[in-house]
Amino acid sequence: MSSVETISSTHRAVRLHGAKDLRVEDLPAPAPPAPGEARLRITAVGICGSDLHTYLDGRIGDTTVESPFVLGHEFAGVVEQAGPDTFDAHGKPLSPDTRVAVEPARPCKRCELCEMGHPNLCPHHTFAGVFPTEGAFQQWLTVPGDTCFPVPDALTDTQAAMLEPLGVGIHAVDLAHIKPGYSVAIVGAGTIGLCCLQMARLAGAAPLFVTDRHDWRLDTAKQLGATPIHIDDTNPVDAIMQHTNGRGVDVALECAWSSEDAVAQAVNVLRPGGRLVVVGIAGDDRLVFNHSAVRRRGLTIAMCRRMKHTYPRAIELTRTGHVDLDAIVTDHLGLDGVAAAFDDACAYRPGLIKAVVHPDRP
Ligand SMILES: [Zn+2]
Ligand SMILES: [Zn+2]
Repeated sequence: MSSVETISSTHRAVRLHGAKDLRVEDLPAPAPPAPGEARLRITAVGICGSDLHTYLDGRIGDTTVESPFVLGHEFAGVVEQAGPDTFDAHGKPLSPDTRVAVEPARPCKRCELCEMGHPNLCPHHTFAGVFPTEGAFQQWLTVPGDTCFPVPDALTDTQAAMLEPLGVGIHAVDLAHIKPGYSVAIVGAGTIGLCCLQMARLAGAAPLFVTDRHDWRLDTAKQLGATPIHIDDTNPVDAIMQHTNGRGVDVALECAWSSEDAVAQAVNVLRPGGRLVVVGIAGDDRLVFNHSAVRRRGLTIAMCRRMKHTYPRAIELTRTGHVDLDAIVTDHLGLDGVAAAFDDACAYRPGLIKAVVHPDRP
């Protein structure tokens, strides 16, 4: 029978009604997909640090959530129905039952930045899970077909959702220009830090330091090949300077919410002429560093803005076992657990790194 029957007349969604106010609600079922669109049954959605920013403040950067809104941009699903003339990200017809990972960014594909190969900088883009474009903490979501990347059977739904943060790690390390044998420091061992770690290692970084204050995250960093540095047990700048015989590292990646401390730490462990990549998003929307510390050593600073066309690489690296995304995912839950999981993540509940929501599970 037609797969339309699999969708009920209502569907469940988690909506943010204001700062720290997430509610599970029954909403009308989404309309059938228009031409070029696919309606997905969502199978896995990661809870991201940027979702936490929006949850805590009701905004991210200068984008404010103005009405009840569904977050969630790290997601995968199964095509339940495709509209007429719907093609996937590779330009192939998209058919029902295809498992896909979804690129949340929707660049215009026509402006100067898109034409120049920087769709991540497109000023006209929208982004699933950033107001007002709905995200995936819900049972069904209709998306443009050309944002859907079919995933091989070898990838789990969870891995498919994790391709989004891995893509950020890929883009950040692309910006870092790491050469084999470059020393690298990563500030922050959350999901993005651990994705950057794995990409830096693949790029040939050695030695590779990761700083954090949470033991379970540092344990995972160590398991993934880094030298862990606990910032409450030791001065991380002194420790990295000692490890590098006073020279400093070639590249530092800041992956810890861009707090003043995190940025200062990343700046201060760099060698003269070194390169800083800022990946974290600042809670107070300010980037603060000591001018002389950056100027005297002639540092180069790159700001990581999302990613560009990283899904094919992310799929291949995951399929071939070059990256371990399962090491980062510590929690699995259904829609009913989302509000508690957001609070757990904000509180750095021991053992939690990445929580993945499965809207199709109770
Ligand atoms: Zn994210
Ligand atoms: Zn554009």
